[in-house]
Amino acid sequence: MLIAGNWKMFKGPHEAGAFCRALRDTNLGEVEVAVCPPYASLATAVQALAGTEIGVFAQNCHWADEGAFTGEISPPMLRELGVYGAVIGHSERRQLFGETDEAVARRVEAALSHGLFVIACVGETEAEREAGEAEAVLRRQLSVLSADDNLVVAYEPVWAIGTGKTATPDIAQEAHAFVKSLLDVPVLYGGSVRPGNAGELCAERDIDGALVGGASLDLESFAEICRAASH
Ligand code: PEP
Repeated sequence: MLIAGNWKMFKGPHEAGAFCRALRDTNLGEVEVAVCPPYASLATAVQALAGTEIGVFAQNCHWADEGAFTGEISPPMLRELGVYGAVIGHSERRQLFGETDEAVARRVEAALSHGLFVIACVGETEAEREAGEAEAVLRRQLSVLSADDNLVVAYEPVWAIGTGKTATPDIAQEAHAFVKSLLDVPVLYGGSVRPGNAGELCAERDIDGALVGGASLDLESFAEICRAASH
């Protein structure tokens, strides 16, 4: 069971350091825990969590080792910082920054080949679900990925991200089983996970953890989610 907190573009180095130092002394139950700070706060987070089992993940990474790619960051640079892994293909990257399935595939492959652990995100929009296309979208997004020991998928229905609408445990379980029928890797659920719903979601057979956005920004709510998921 892995609980990863995606901080998005929140918490600069000062706040990230304080959060991570407090996280060290917090009861997080029996789950694996990761935080995904913005690039500017990665070094501080790595330093503050040194010697713990809590992993630090970037929120993206490029496929090239270096080059003329303004605004990007490469897998070797993340390794040099001591970062454990990267989230790739988040729906905000896909929707707001034009990330394609092909670009996601290249990023995932490069990250894995450099020894980074990858959380690859997939999920359908509300319109796609209403049109009965959810499985087709997942099939397309997953078709460019191959199973790997260092890869997990996060199923994040776009209609549930930051909206307060959570997939019911039944809907999430059905989607997770479908994802696993296509790609044999652990699958995290993401989409408005909170202390009050983390336990029932993580109790589903094919839900192997959670990628948590908004509720991961507050130490106590993140810790509560970790503890709820470990029951
Ligand atoms: C996310 O950003 O991956 C996410 C699931 O966000 P939230 O928990 O805020 O819906």
